[in-house]
Amino acid sequence: MNFSFEVLKADSGGARRGRLTTPHGAIETPVFMPVGTQAAVKSLRNEALEELGARIILGNTYHLYLRPGHELIRKLGGLHKFMSWDRAILTDSGGYQVFSLSELRKITDEGVRFRSHLDGSEHLLTPEKASEIQLALGSDIAMVLDECIETPAPREIAESAVKRTTAWAKRARDFFLKCGSRNGDLNQWQFGIVQGATFADLRRESAQQLLAIDFPGYAVGGLAVGEPHDVTCEMTAVTTELLPKNKPRYLMGVGRPEQLADYVALGVDMMDCVLPTRAARHACIYTCEGKVLIKNARYAQDQRPLDPECSCSVCKRYTRAYLRHLFAAGELTAAILATHHNIHFYLDFIRQIREAIEFGNLAKFSSEVQARYAAGPA
Ligand SMILES: [Zn+2]
Repeated sequence: MNFSFEVLKADSGGARRGRLTTPHGAIETPVFMPVGTQAAVKSLRNEALEELGARIILGNTYHLYLRPGHELIRKLGGLHKFMSWDRAILTDSGGYQVFSLSELRKITDEGVRFRSHLDGSEHLLTPEKASEIQLALGSDIAMVLDECIETPAPREIAESAVKRTTAWAKRARDFFLKCGSRNGDLNQWQFGIVQGATFADLRRESAQQLLAIDFPGYAVGGLAVGEPHDVTCEMTAVTTELLPKNKPRYLMGVGRPEQLADYVALGVDMMDCVLPTRAARHACIYTCEGKVLIKNARYAQDQRPLDPECSCSVCKRYTRAYLRHLFAAGELTAAILATHHNIHFYLDFIRQIREAIEFGNLAKFSSEVQARYAAGPA
């Protein structure tokens, strides 16, 4: 068996310290997964990601399907070989991007018809197609196509999206089980996605329906899309309560550093977010004291590292004054250095969360972080 997940330790509150094993290596959980939308984590070389200790990154089905095309990637040996990344990859289903980026989308029970945001060409993404694309990419973990809706959503819209998400999940699972094995061995794990917007009963209903289909892992989708943090937590909690203890749980698209510990406390094992990479390109640096907006004039002569407590290679070598200058001058190096530090910060932060679970003091760790962030940078 190429895949496994084991919970090594669970604390009394529900946080779990685990290990997810894939054909491309083992991943300590809870894990934060950097986002490599178009087969690249923006402004980082894979060498840097390896140096930073990233064990799993995300790839984006919608983008890779439209460009360069999944058949081309299949022909070139799969996504790992194409992008020269030997560690694990999780691909999303493309659903979220179809719903947020593409034009003229039309949703039917069959799938989503949409026009490419690149050239206006028309495409049909079905649950089977989303699975087929991800099999061609050869990611370690694939996600089923789900119906993503805008929130806040009226109840009837959320209800119908849950119904369709379940029907699509069944089709995706059937297709995957028929086509996803080589010599009887599964080379990919497929996760289901719980929807239900901000309605607790719909979240429970969605979770129960997906449990009946039986996936090796489950994601919580459609959250952290503008609703208050306590609502995200409440919806996550009602979902994780129902999910099997022996399977990984993935909360999609989160979050801010100070929120990660909250999600872990609710039993979440995996998270991803564009925040550390996107913020870096906008000169926003995450530090142990909160966000530093490095373009600010107050850093013009600041000889300190970006984060005085950080051990990354950027903080060891460069000053805030230098980074501020690079951003002001529009140098590409600014994004490279800032992204390197931000990803280091996130991966180190989640490492500290894992350690806190092991020592049984996650709640204390979390409240210390909140207090430091509330005080703000010096
Ligand atoms: Zn650093």
